[in-house]
Amino acid sequence: MNILVINCGSSSLKYQLIDSESENVLAKGLVERIGIEGSCITHTPAGRDKVVKTQPMQDHNEAVKLVIEALIDPEHGVIKSLSEIGAVGHRVVHGGEKFKTAVKIDDSVIKDIEDLSSLAPLHNPANLIGIRACAENMPGVPQAAVFDTAFHQTMPKKAYMYGLPYEYYEKYKVRRYGFHGTSHDYVSSRVGEILGKDRKDLKIIVCHLGNGASISAVKNGECVDTSMGLTPLEGLIMGTRSGDLDPAILDFICEKEGLSSHEMNTVLNKKSGVLGLSGGVSSDFRDLSAAANDGNELAKTALETYCYRVAKYIGSYTMAMQGVDVIAFTAGIGENAADVREGVCGYLKYMGVEIDADANKKRGEEITLSTADSKVKVMVVPTNEELSIARQTLAIL
Ligand code: AMP
Repeated sequence: MNILVINCGSSSLKYQLIDSESENVLAKGLVERIGIEGSCITHTPAGRDKVVKTQPMQDHNEAVKLVIEALIDPEHGVIKSLSEIGAVGHRVVHGGEKFKTAVKIDDSVIKDIEDLSSLAPLHNPANLIGIRACAENMPGVPQAAVFDTAFHQTMPKKAYMYGLPYEYYEKYKVRRYGFHGTSHDYVSSRVGEILGKDRKDLKIIVCHLGNGASISAVKNGECVDTSMGLTPLEGLIMGTRSGDLDPAILDFICEKEGLSSHEMNTVLNKKSGVLGLSGGVSSDFRDLSAAANDGNELAKTALETYCYRVAKYIGSYTMAMQGVDVIAFTAGIGENAADVREGVCGYLKYMGVEIDADANKKRGEEITLSTADSKVKVMVVPTNEELSIARQTLAIL
């Protein structure tokens, strides 16, 4: 069966058509600037050149129509008709406490995703637009929602509660949810497959280091702690997000700079992280490493602080699981940035982590970084959230 995987943002839509039997990607693409001037679709059929088409489109409905047109196009398409799409799997950011697994979408699920929008005001409404646009353009094709938060729902209460008045949890469900769950799930199970073991017998720390970054402790196949919280702002230092900080800083800076809490929130999400810390050099680790190598002291500080924070979390998750068998790096930085992996692992020598410098030079593939003597296995496992969404969609439909 062919499964169309959709990741819908407020003005963009990413898609992949995956053959669930071979697990091959038949085509993938991106629709950008939906409802904005200059909207375009970039469609890449497997093994062929990408095709870019600039075309005005008012809304996501038109975007989905264009995706279908691209998929069945006689020249660039990969299927003959819509009937060759057996199901659609949607990435949905927030499933709250309600969704502990992926689900088949019906009216009540749509209502629940809508109700959870207050917890993810930028994402859930956009995800819903994609769901509705697909329902309209592909009537009768079953759709599934795969939640970013679901994998983390196994966390114990002591890991997800904040030290706040309990009534905020009762009234507003303020607690840690965690994100990137599809990636943490995929990578931890892939670790088991690569090692020829059941992940139920392993203690794994997954470091998802992308533009957004999070880390999780996966013990016996279940998430027991993760670094992102009520929102994706908590935890590691990220490209432009601050991660953990003293909450009193907010009030302090707002007063000094005359900022509203909304403006401060924008600073924390868009102007902080390694971008802010490096004095504006870049949020991209390729630029940061280049600047650090050229002697830029702030870029060096940003990289060191970043690695230190990741290592600090690994230390605390080792405690949470009372040990660790495997540390897995994934996502753009985890898969590619050898200097970051080296920097993080440098802090872990005390626990017997040793990595092979030559293995660490490789990037973008499955690699075992640790030496034969290392007490903990260290691996690079490229994430594949789309494949995971396709698998979960197939499983529930
Ligand atoms: P992601 O959000 O997983 O797509 O990761 C994107 C980030 O990965 C970029 O912002 C870069 O910081 C980082 N990245 C991508 N390629 C490389 C590379 N070759 N070397 C270092 N960092 C990279």
